[in-house]
Amino acid sequence: MSFAELWRQLEPIGRNPETGGYRRYSWTPADTECRAWFTRQAERLGLTVEPDNNGNIWAWWGSADPARPNAVVTGSHLDSVPDGGGYDGALGVVAALAAVEELKTRNFNPERAVAIAVLTEEEGARFRVACLGSRLITGGIDPASARGLSDDDGVTLAAAMTAAGRDPSLLGPGENLLGSIGAFVELHVEQGRALAPMGAAIGVAEGIWPHGRWRFDFAGRADHAGTARLADRNDPMLPYASTVLAARQLAAEHGAVATFGKVIAEPGGANGVNSAVRAWLDARAPDDNALQDTLTMIRSAAEISAAEHGVTLTVRRESYTPQVQFDEGLRDRITGVLGAAGITAPVLPTAAGHDAGILAARIPTAMLFVRNPTGVSHSPAEHAEEADCEAGVHALALVLEDLAGRP
Ligand SMILES: [Zn+2]
Repeated sequence: MSFAELWRQLEPIGRNPETGGYRRYSWTPADTECRAWFTRQAERLGLTVEPDNNGNIWAWWGSADPARPNAVVTGSHLDSVPDGGGYDGALGVVAALAAVEELKTRNFNPERAVAIAVLTEEEGARFRVACLGSRLITGGIDPASARGLSDDDGVTLAAAMTAAGRDPSLLGPGENLLGSIGAFVELHVEQGRALAPMGAAIGVAEGIWPHGRWRFDFAGRADHAGTARLADRNDPMLPYASTVLAARQLAAEHGAVATFGKVIAEPGGANGVNSAVRAWLDARAPDDNALQDTLTMIRSAAEISAAEHGVTLTVRRESYTPQVQFDEGLRDRITGVLGAAGITAPVLPTAAGHDAGILAARIPTAMLFVRNPTGVSHSPAEHAEEADCEAGVHALALVLEDLAGRP
């Protein structure tokens, strides 16, 4: 089946007809449908599909050797942010299936096991910890705290997994699995716009900016929007608003990015002063020091403004991923393979987090990017041209062929 045919099959699953955006949240019916589709396609290619204990899926071509790190793994994720684009994550999974199909059509016989991984809850859109599946395998999150993570409706990960027929008591590090993997290569739609001006369809990742997510709780006092005098209010919306502006300013000063993308005002009446504002800050910077400095200054700006309005502030870090440098040897091998095939693939840094960044702590890891002409991502406007996706499939097939072609 061609890339385009696979793409058209997956495309409608979990798409909201009103916004055109995807709502593929982990352990929901849309997610289950995506998993079932992947399983069918992997089995059609003759791969052995093995879900792991953490909710990730592995589809094997050949068998893993737990005694040595030999397998070549590619893949990405199928979950989305709220009303996300269709390419983020899904492109890497579909491209992996198409690349394996291309190699099988060419009668390629791998010397090393090849696997396609679908990693769960990469976006953290439901349970608020990004890259949850790869963090669980690598021991980056304690299984008990993972089980207790809850979504906006108070449903815990443990309850959601149980409802989907999985056993959350088995969550935890996958040492045997990690020990059998020699390389992980994730193909992903470019998030940002570096390739288009260079006239290149494919890029190779250099590293990932450190990034994190912090929850700001501003607690004030609910009051009447008409009768409460301005001077008497403890309105949490005011320090929140000034913190949003401060974050923008401070990020610009540090060469960083900082975004309040989610906010909940309580009780949220249109004619009332709120009692509380809960908001989530996502911040990223070129290095750990710049990110720490940016966060410290945003936090102190928030504290000053909260004090001015008689509002209390609590800041909690929900996740943090340090700076990642991908394996230089693997990167050079990939750029060499692509170069020899006449494919220009510039090396680029990225400010987006990926499972590859988490796995890089344990496995030689690399990423391929497929050109995004507008750079827009996490939005229904996210796009990649079909020809570029096909170029990505072909590049990935060449890389897998090279890596798996030698013992
Ligand atoms: Zn992604």
